[in-house]
Amino acid sequence: MAMTAEHAVDALAATQPATTAAVLAAARRALAVLGDAAALDAELLLAAATGRTRASLLAFPERGVPAVAVRALEALIARRAGGEPLAYLLGVREFFSLDLEVNASVLVPRPETELLVEAALARCARLVQPAVLDVGTGSGAIALAVKSERRDAQVTGVDTSAAALAVARRNAVRLGLAIRWLESTWFSAVAGEAFDVIISNPPYVHSADVVGALVHEPRQALDGGPDGLDAYRELLRDAPAHLRAGGALLLEHGADQRDALAALAAATGWRVVRALDDLAGRARVLELERGIA
Ligand code: GLN
Repeated sequence: MAMTAEHAVDALAATQPATTAAVLAAARRALAVLGDAAALDAELLLAAATGRTRASLLAFPERGVPAVAVRALEALIARRAGGEPLAYLLGVREFFSLDLEVNASVLVPRPETELLVEAALARCARLVQPAVLDVGTGSGAIALAVKSERRDAQVTGVDTSAAALAVARRNAVRLGLAIRWLESTWFSAVAGEAFDVIISNPPYVHSADVVGALVHEPRQALDGGPDGLDAYRELLRDAPAHLRAGGALLLEHGADQRDALAALAAATGWRVVRALDDLAGRARVLELERGIA
């Protein structure tokens, strides 16, 4: 039976003074509810609590763990067992080989979103100093990844959340990537501007499905309305005014939304240039241009 966070606290306290191996074993048991992820998460949380590397934890199982670190670990385990994303507890998440700061103000960057970055880079390949706009940038993941690969690109990241932009800004400074960040509801802050590529991973989860682990992430980054398509209606309507001739709109979408999104796009004067599946084989990205198919 899975141990509750409280039992974990008792178990860890009982092993004082504790060895690394004993604390790791107790942490794994306390995180059993996570299934296959329990062992790795236990190691990463203990690394965070002790300031040691995972390699050090595994190489020196007999080393003692200070009581203060055990207490810190107990708090982290209670939050992880309660469903908080590991990335929020560690404060970092890797995306497109960049270490990004994340916190509860931003969606945790997902591996499948790297597909959107690749599509944007492909789109920029023939352009010099492409103007790129990331709508709803959150942690800045997409904008930063594009800029890291294309230093000549003029990248703008917009978000309606000032708290999210603060995270994006810190990421850019730490990574040394020059990006223009603007607080903006959709395109409000870029009136009169046009871009070669507009990218968005907008909220697309059906309102009724924002449950479980998702409740720990910002609702405005996930909730796409009753049918999950509200954000696309805004983007499809307003993006044309901000697209240069020959430009493209790249949208991430839910695995079950390709047909509905393609139909919405067609009805609003777009054509699908490419439809891309993620590494898990799920429908994930549409590349759109203005015009009739
Ligand atoms: N891919 C995310 C999820 O399904 C949703 C991201 C989004 O709404 N943009 O958890």
